[in-house]
Amino acid sequence: MLKISDLHVSAGGRQILDGLSLEVAAGEVHAIMGPNGSGKSTLAQVLAGREGYEVTSGSVIYRDRDLLALPPEERAREGVFLAFQYPVEIPGVNNVYLLKAALNAIRKHRGEAEADAFEFLALVREKMKLMQMDESFLNRGVNEGFSGGEKKRNEILQMAVLEPALALLDETDSGLDIDALRIVANGVNSLRRADRSIVMVTHYQRLLDYIEPDYVHVLSDGRIIKSGDKSLALELEKRGYDWVKQEAAA
Ligand code: ADP
Ligand code: MG
Ligand code: MG
Repeated sequence: MLKISDLHVSAGGRQILDGLSLEVAAGEVHAIMGPNGSGKSTLAQVLAGREGYEVTSGSVIYRDRDLLALPPEERAREGVFLAFQYPVEIPGVNNVYLLKAALNAIRKHRGEAEADAFEFLALVREKMKLMQMDESFLNRGVNEGFSGGEKKRNEILQMAVLEPALALLDETDSGLDIDALRIVANGVNSLRRADRSIVMVTHYQRLLDYIEPDYVHVLSDGRIIKSGDKSLALELEKRGYDWVKQEAAA
């Protein structure tokens, strides 16, 4: 699904990713952990093709294609998903309307029939039920008064509707209380499939109690310095990151 080799990325004049390599096979769930500022969000942004990052060397192959050569909208149409992030509230623009436009862009790209208003509404209602989201959500503007938990549910809703091949989730657990965490985790688990890969950035082990990753990686100073299974996350929770750094340096 994804093969990242020796990726070096700079932003704002400084190097952030420094030789990052990672392979993700179809059907796998990978968790990326690591200290603040180690480059986790940068990795997600670069894979999605967000502006402001310069890839200085290395490669990213996604389903036999050079991902970095594709413009961001093409990546999205090809099944790479990073939750839409809106820096501001856009009260006039309907949240669900944007999702319909995104879905139909993907369907058109695949040569499939576009969803009409009825089909789309049925689909989004079904997925909202899964995420235990209130119907009133349908009428809300983009980010209009969304709580942290609602933003995260909205992320998984987007993913459930768009059915990506490669889902990138950045700090899906941030700002969630324990009930919302369970709902979000259920949503993610329902999207696990043999032909879909999930890469999720998380700070806390507790999300991994609900979404069991196949692999856990530690990202530190722009590269992956240790990989393991879910037991690594438990060890990190107990011991922090310093021992991994020392081990990697030795
Ligand atoms: P993480 O998500 O692991 O906390 P980030 O990827 O957000 O880390 O950031 C890694 C480092 O790169 C941080 O020191 C951050 O300040 C810096 N950084 C991120 N984006 C930019 C940018 N656009 N310009 C300059 N520095 C940036
Ligand atoms: Mg280097
Ligand atoms: Mg981050």
